[in-house]
Amino acid sequence: MAFEAIRAQSAAVDLLSRAIRSGRVAHAYAFVGPSGVGRRLTALAFAQALLCPAEGCGQCRTCARVNAGTHPDCHLIVPDGQNIKIEQIRELERLAHLTPHEGRRKVFILDAADRMTLPAAHAFLKTLEEPPARTVLVLILAQIRALPATILSRCQLVRFSPLPLSDAVALLIEHGVEAGEAPLLARVSEGRVGLALARAPKSFAEQRDQALSLLGEVAAKGAEPLLTRTEAMGRDRGLVEAFIETYWLWYRDLLCVKAGGDSRLLIHADREAELAQTAAASTWEEILRALAQCRAAWQALQGNVSPRLTLEVTLARLALRAA
Ligand SMILES: [Zn+2]
Repeated sequence: MAFEAIRAQSAAVDLLSRAIRSGRVAHAYAFVGPSGVGRRLTALAFAQALLCPAEGCGQCRTCARVNAGTHPDCHLIVPDGQNIKIEQIRELERLAHLTPHEGRRKVFILDAADRMTLPAAHAFLKTLEEPPARTVLVLILAQIRALPATILSRCQLVRFSPLPLSDAVALLIEHGVEAGEAPLLARVSEGRVGLALARAPKSFAEQRDQALSLLGEVAAKGAEPLLTRTEAMGRDRGLVEAFIETYWLWYRDLLCVKAGGDSRLLIHADREAELAQTAAASTWEEILRALAQCRAAWQALQGNVSPRLTLEVTLARLALRAA
């Protein structure tokens, strides 16, 4: 079955393949879990299983078109800009009342369903209350509380979890990440392989090293590298976000080392010696303050503060300790 490609989500896959085999398919499902762990992949595999004459062989024309997003009975709905809008739900409603083009059913996958506007959610609730025949709705969302309970109570809940480290490493290597880099990437992404892959066009470890060496440089030389280095990269919001996240994880590791935590819990486990040294030289207050500063930087970036300014202020606070 098409589910064979899904890794380490056996609870979800068992539930869905049982529904297919028994013919007892619900009108609506809510796939709940962090992004990057295979929710959308599973939704597409489920759509293949629902539409393909061989229950998702993964080989036939039906399966291929579901995968390519060109099957007329399988619709993927994603936010239009920031949100899923009411117009998109009205279009779903219209299509859902048509007879399937080819298959036995119509499948609608709403990715980032938690980003429905309130009017869209109300319209969607109406669809759920009177589900069109032969229609399966799949909502993909991160948090169970992100949608009104009236919607979720009408969906069968399917839970997704982050991948265990070993599965994440294996999967990253299969997708072309170098074996030496995969464990770090798996740890930093906390088992969200899809996110790790989306973010690793070039060497992830290299970017991590750049972030930490910039922090070290500012600590050693004062403000001068701040001004030269941040000018070049300060326009790239994604890069600055990655740097801030690196710092956040670095101080999180320091806290872990200082508390005597197991070294298997470390994200930057390849730098254990340096972490131990820095942790010994830092006070609890310093580490906690640094974590708070990273969080403030993250919020500033989400709130549209200039990436360059955010990076400069954060580096200055982290590295240039007030005398
Ligand atoms: Zn097939």
